[in-house]
Amino acid sequence: MTFSMDPADYLRYLADAHRELSANGDYITSLDAKNGDGDHWVNLNLGFQKILAASEELGTLSLPAMLKKTGMIMMSAVGGSSGVLYGSAYLAAAKATEGKEFIDGRALLAILEAQAKAIGERGQAEPGFKTMLDSLHGAVVAYREALGKGDGDKEALLALKAGAAAGAEATRGMEAVKGRASYQTNKGVGDLDPGAVTMAMQLGCLADYLIANCLK
Ligand code: ADP
Ligand code: MG
Repeated sequence: MTFSMDPADYLRYLADAHRELSANGDYITSLDAKNGDGDHWVNLNLGFQKILAASEELGTLSLPAMLKKTGMIMMSAVGGSSGVLYGSAYLAAAKATEGKEFIDGRALLAILEAQAKAIGERGQAEPGFKTMLDSLHGAVVAYREALGKGDGDKEALLALKAGAAAGAEATRGMEAVKGRASYQTNKGVGDLDPGAVTMAMQLGCLADYLIANCLK
C-alpha cells in the first residue's frame, strides 16, 4: 500500500490538527506558562485560523505554492519563536516539493527532513535541546528507518507517529538549551516542552489522516 496526498488533503489534515490542538489548548497554555510565557497555544491558534480561513484558495494552488503560502501565513500570523520556526519549516517544505503535485512516502520524508533542517538552522537548535525539533527529529528518524527496512506505508506512518510522541516525551528529562525554558534555573527538567508536544500532536494527526484517507 502506498499513499498520495494533494494540497486539498493537506489542508484537511491541518483542519484535523487544529481540532486536536484546540481540544488541548488549555493544556498547551499550561505547559508554556510553566517554563515560558504561556502564549504558545494562542500563537499557533492564530496561524491555524488564518490558514484555514484561506484554505479554499490555498487548496487550488500547486503543492509547493500551497506550502509556501502556508509558511508565509505562519510567519506573519503566528507570534513568538514558533511563528518564525514554522514559517521557515513550511518554506523549506515548499522547496523540497518543487515540481511535485502529490506527497507520497518519499516526498514526505524529504519534507520532514527539510523542515527539521530549517528549524535547526533558524533556531540554532539540535536534537536534545528540549524544543519542537525533538519530536520532529524523532519522527524523521523513525520514519526513515521504517522506509529503509521496507515497511509498508501504514507501518512507516505509525512509526513516524510513535517517533514523534517519544521525541516529545523525551523532552521531560532534558535541560533546555534553547527557548524560554533555558532561562529557568532548573532548565525545565521534569516538564514537557510545549513546542515539542504541539509538534508531536500535528505529526500524529498527519499520520492518522494519511492512514485514514490517502492509502491506496
Ligand atoms: P516564545 O517562546 O517566543 O514564547 P512560543 O511560545 O510560541 O514562542 O513557542 C515556544 C516553543 O518554541 C518552545 O516550546 C520550543 O519548542 C520552540 N522554540 C523556542 N525557541 C526555539 C529555538 N531556538 N529552536 C527551536 N525551537 C525553539
Ligand atoms: Mg511562549
